[in-house]
Amino acid sequence: MLKADLHIHSTASDGKLKPSDIVRLALERKLDVIAITDHDTIAGHSEAFAAAEGSDLRIVRGVEISTMFNGREAHLLAYSFQDEEIIHQLLRSQKEKRIERAKSIITRLKKLGFDISYDEVRAEAGRATIGRPHIARVLVRKKYAADNNEVFIRYLSDRSCAYEKMDYPDIVHVIKLIHLSGGFAVIAHPSRSYNFIEIKYLKDSGLDGIECLHPSHNLAAKRRYQTYCDNYGLIATGGSDFHGSTHDMYHFGAFYLPMQPESPLFNQYDSEETSILEHNLEAL
Ligand code: AMP
Ligand code: MN
Ligand code: MN
Ligand code: MN
Repeated sequence: MLKADLHIHSTASDGKLKPSDIVRLALERKLDVIAITDHDTIAGHSEAFAAAEGSDLRIVRGVEISTMFNGREAHLLAYSFQDEEIIHQLLRSQKEKRIERAKSIITRLKKLGFDISYDEVRAEAGRATIGRPHIARVLVRKKYAADNNEVFIRYLSDRSCAYEKMDYPDIVHVIKLIHLSGGFAVIAHPSRSYNFIEIKYLKDSGLDGIECLHPSHNLAAKRRYQTYCDNYGLIATGGSDFHGSTHDMYHFGAFYLPMQPESPLFNQYDSEETSILEHNLEAL
């Protein structure tokens, strides 16, 4: 059995550690497998692969994609896709949407009287895909709130005053694109985002797996999702959702998924569906 953490963020999105530092930490904490699943980007992958070269650490390609499902935001993890134009095209479009969204949120904040500009937030994000945490960090630095969590509660979460709804692509469309690029589609932290009727609908729409192990799941939730995976032949995944906070640092490596060496995630998504979909690529 391998020790795996398949949900990790780096400085390529809203994480605090560089991909190479994550690899070093994973080796130090004796993990066997990691996936760097930044929000809507795979820009951290090459640095991670280079840092792991010559070591026993296995890296599964991964990304956490923002999608829309039933009128709200839903995170979908993609694993083991190939480095193909389909995925790059999707991620380029996601990056643009994130920039537009950040600008809309900043406009709202300005109207509310905050002294904040897009340039400041862009500088905070650096080369990372921009996200609400970067806006939050600027507001915290300017003493508008004590920490990011307070900024989210007061201004940025989906019921707060500066929230801006996104037009991310529909989740089923993204599942199809992931399959086309040879990847597996897994719903992230389902207890936050999906009920079982929705999970059944997604399973019938081609979903490959469920993130059973996640810090937001208690033991009962984990078992419920695991049983569902066993019953329906879905892949059970898991990870720490590491962002590099002090709390995350403490648990990293101890919070792991026991992973079979023969897990499908070590291969490519392969089914007749791919060839059928290829014919319908125009229609997507
Ligand atoms: P975005 O990617 O722009 O939609 O922002 C969502 C990200 O913000 C999540 O991936 C978390 O990393 C972070 N986040 C969400 N809720 C909170 C919160 N209450 N406090 C701090 N960070 C949060
Ligand atoms: Mn995040
Ligand atoms: Mn998420
Ligand atoms: Mn995440």
